[in-house]
Amino acid sequence: MIVLQSMELSNEAALGIVATERERKRKRNDMVMLEEEVPVALDTSEVIAEFDARTKDAERVQKETLKKILQENGGTEYLKKWGLNGRTDPESFKACVPIVTHDDLDPYIQRIADGDDEDSPILTGKPITTISLSSGTTKGKPKFVPFNDELMETTMQIYKTSYSFRNREFPIGNGKCLQFIYGSKQFKTKGGLAAGTATTNVYRNPLFKKTMKAMQTPCCSPDEVIFGSDFHQSLYCHLLCGLIFREEVQVISSTFAHGIVHAFRTFELVWEELCADIREGVLSSRISFPSIRSAVSRLLKPNPELADVIYSKCQGLSNWYGLIPELFPNTRYIYGIMTGSMEPYLKKLRHYAGELPLLSADYGSSEGWIGANVNPKLPPELVTYAVLPDIGYFEFMPLKHDYLEEAKPVGLTEVKVGEEYEVVVTSFAGLYRYRLGDVVKVKGFYNSTPELQFICRRNLLLSINIDKNTEKDLQLSVEAAGKILAGEKLEVVDFTSSVDTSNDLAHYVIYWEINGETSHDEVLQECCNCLDKSFNDAGYMSSRKVNTIGALELRILKKGTFHKILDHYVQMGAAVSQFKTPRCVPHSNSRVLEILCNNVVKSYFSTAY
Ligand code: AMP
Repeated sequence: MIVLQSMELSNEAALGIVATERERKRKRNDMVMLEEEVPVALDTSEVIAEFDARTKDAERVQKETLKKILQENGGTEYLKKWGLNGRTDPESFKACVPIVTHDDLDPYIQRIADGDDEDSPILTGKPITTISLSSGTTKGKPKFVPFNDELMETTMQIYKTSYSFRNREFPIGNGKCLQFIYGSKQFKTKGGLAAGTATTNVYRNPLFKKTMKAMQTPCCSPDEVIFGSDFHQSLYCHLLCGLIFREEVQVISSTFAHGIVHAFRTFELVWEELCADIREGVLSSRISFPSIRSAVSRLLKPNPELADVIYSKCQGLSNWYGLIPELFPNTRYIYGIMTGSMEPYLKKLRHYAGELPLLSADYGSSEGWIGANVNPKLPPELVTYAVLPDIGYFEFMPLKHDYLEEAKPVGLTEVKVGEEYEVVVTSFAGLYRYRLGDVVKVKGFYNSTPELQFICRRNLLLSINIDKNTEKDLQLSVEAAGKILAGEKLEVVDFTSSVDTSNDLAHYVIYWEINGETSHDEVLQECCNCLDKSFNDAGYMSSRKVNTIGALELRILKKGTFHKILDHYVQMGAAVSQFKTPRCVPHSNSRVLEILCNNVVKSYFSTAY
């Protein structure tokens, strides 16, 4: 207990964070809770029974949830402004409070960050003490969103829910989880609030560790590795700690699948050094941060037998196929978000995973959680997320095919199977009728709560005139062209896009980093034509035919370009845990465009039209 307490304080001291009275009080409460509640294994059947009861009565639970949110927060400046006057029913709520985007709420959130809600509440009845930074990988600029204890609790609730379903199908015993997770830098806002990415806020909270223990999957790595300020060093040490505990590892995970693929791509480069460290019991000189060095050195003992085993396993693999089960023989499954913009990494993940099952994690955002994967046996491409009706109040804005037309939002239990919607969230953390910007499709119902398939972000990625292409359209085009490349035993490591308007005739530019030789001109020309032909929305095709959009350009990048982009975001304060490669780079994101343009090795123009 004392260890935990001093660790908490030293983390904060290291960050130069001075706790306010309110924070101190909360911390004391957390400590009391930790002292009293020794983590016991989660009663998964009870969690499932609770989930079943709530989802059977989703409509009523939604009404109650909204009532609770409005009762707690009715006295805020924001809700008073819309004249709710204490009413808590859905009809009054929808009639009074408008649907908003982040831009509409930003001024309120900024004031909270500046400390203006100390005396009179702005968005939430209880003061907000922490701010989350969304990954901001699309716009190149993180957004501020409020984070509070309720959000922490709902995060743990969703973790426990999906774990309970997962454990029914893939039971694990006491063991460890090799978690590729990273805290990002935290800073203080003008008003003295701690600000960091949502995942960092979660990992720093004592409830996180307690829940991980209750779920029998504590992390292999010490906190110093998770919160180390250089993610390259943290990643190396995560791998090393995983290898030290290789027999105990039961789950390999990361928030997003990209984090796991990135880790094992790195393993391919550093495995011999890792073996040498284990053999000698001395940590590589690349680990220079004293806190990480001393924490990991404590775990590292000379172990030539282990080094030999790992060395010979790596040498015996063909092109690293099945690397994960070879290194971690007791792994039951791989876990992380695998849908949406993570789908392009599945092929590589399957390659590393061999026969191991890939289980997609839940659906949520810095703004709050939405649904849990309660069908863990489904392959990631078919995964749906069952909405938890008690973690927020949800509305769904019906969308037409091009996502430009929208209709009046409907309630959680009013959605129709097969239809697509934008998610609108009302949360316990001060967001009211907030458009999340995600498009989901209703695939069915779990009791009376919908099961959502994640489709894409709603904003159009590529559009020059009448053409409209989303993240999903780009992904499908890249998949189609990637098949041609696969014929040459090459693969797309990562990709993004932009619109080039430097000439009168604007055109799409697709950037590819590929593994292997870039000398296959004919094949890459064919891929370029295929990309162009695969954007098959009527607007694009007709514009191409009459030449009002120029020939699509495929630019091949130097190896490691996407690592440079990741590094750039991390330097700006983004968390590796939440990183999503931006699938389209707007002109405003000049630094990323510069990285891309400076690393082009070849370029091809489509001759498909
Ligand atoms: P962040 O900026 O890190 O809060 O990212 C939140 C966004 O990540 C969501 O709005 C989604 O677009 C995406 N996301 C989160 N969970 C999933 C999921 N399970 N499948 C696909 N995309 C997801």
